[in-house]
Amino acid sequence: MRLIGLRLTGFRNLADDRLRFPGEGIALVGRNAQGKTNLLEAVHYLETFRSFRGAPDRELVRFGENVFRIEGKIESDRGGAAEIAAAFQRSPKQKRVTADGKVVARLGDAVGSVATVLFTPSDLGLVRGGPSERRRFLDIVLSLNEPGYLSALQEFGRALAQRNAVFRSGGGDAAFAWDEILVRSGARIIISRARWITGHADLFRACYDEMAGCGKARIQYRSSVAGGRETADPQATADAFRSALRSSRERECRQRTTVVGPHRDEMELTLEEETGRRDLRAYGSGGEQRTAALALRLLEAETAKRVRGREPILLLDDVFAELDDQRSARTLALLEKTGPGQVILTAPKESEVRFRRESLTRWRIEGGRIEG
Ligand code: ATP
Ligand code: MG
Repeated sequence: MRLIGLRLTGFRNLADDRLRFPGEGIALVGRNAQGKTNLLEAVHYLETFRSFRGAPDRELVRFGENVFRIEGKIESDRGGAAEIAAAFQRSPKQKRVTADGKVVARLGDAVGSVATVLFTPSDLGLVRGGPSERRRFLDIVLSLNEPGYLSALQEFGRALAQRNAVFRSGGGDAAFAWDEILVRSGARIIISRARWITGHADLFRACYDEMAGCGKARIQYRSSVAGGRETADPQATADAFRSALRSSRERECRQRTTVVGPHRDEMELTLEEETGRRDLRAYGSGGEQRTAALALRLLEAETAKRVRGREPILLLDDVFAELDDQRSARTLALLEKTGPGQVILTAPKESEVRFRRESLTRWRIEGGRIEG
């Protein structure tokens, strides 16, 4: 799929503009703080309707203004065109998404109709950050690519919040009334995550190996409620979760919170070495962690392609900045192979534009103004 047109109004520091994108994409070159990442954020917004930086919508509205609007024209791989637009107003607060001019009643229905995969410097947090970063990654990939996952996640989130509120207010046993909803939605989440990870473990290893030139990288789901065997079978997972909840009751009443469940699970990333397994989060070098983060994004791209049957638009935000020459050459080769589709890449300097060096159209950005 390709983004062919983008109209921006009131978004961050970007000038109000209508942009026309070439089919193979562009390289956006500009100094720091000129708005390069903001442009990628706007494109990515059309997929998830929220900021990939985790910023609330009101922060995306240009300083001193009240509304932002992003309108995209998308061409599918088969040639059909679609329009998707998102608008947000600060006061009175209002958010609206339209698809081909029609207002979308539920945001969830339009999430994922644009397929992008974003590589950014902050992806390092996927490996270096706490378990919640990796859970968030899994939740986004699965919400976009697996029917029913998002609603299970929402159901689980609501039940968890209410259960924990009862604990906090000292309600004790009344909290256990939520257990069956928690088990039903939670088991679904655990199984989907574990399946996705198991199904991609070989690819993760292969991508890592190809970029690093060595290393036995391993990805594994560690559930707080079920061992490896249970996560393959829905009934066994639900049973394991139920009994984990039962045996944690005393601890939960003491700590006044839910202590087991998918909200406490971990996606573990390790390197296998002769001396044993080394956890990348604690012991990885910057380059190793970045390589693992890139590999996760490649898995995401592969998933989007396989499940949604569309070539995702690659959004590459200054990705080669921290890699040594060898690693970046290998990463480049892998990316070129993975993504024959459209690419929008940013770089602070012309010399950093390495992807499809000759063919990519150069755009420049200064103070939010883009020149083709
Ligand atoms: P770098 O190369 O350092 O990553 P960049 O070109 O990617 O820089 P961006 O993060 O896209 O920079 O843009 C940062 C600029 O956008 C900052 O100067 C910031 O003040 C400005 N900015 C952020 N939010 C808003 C907003 N809501 N309204 C106006 N300007 C904003
Ligand atoms: Mg940036």
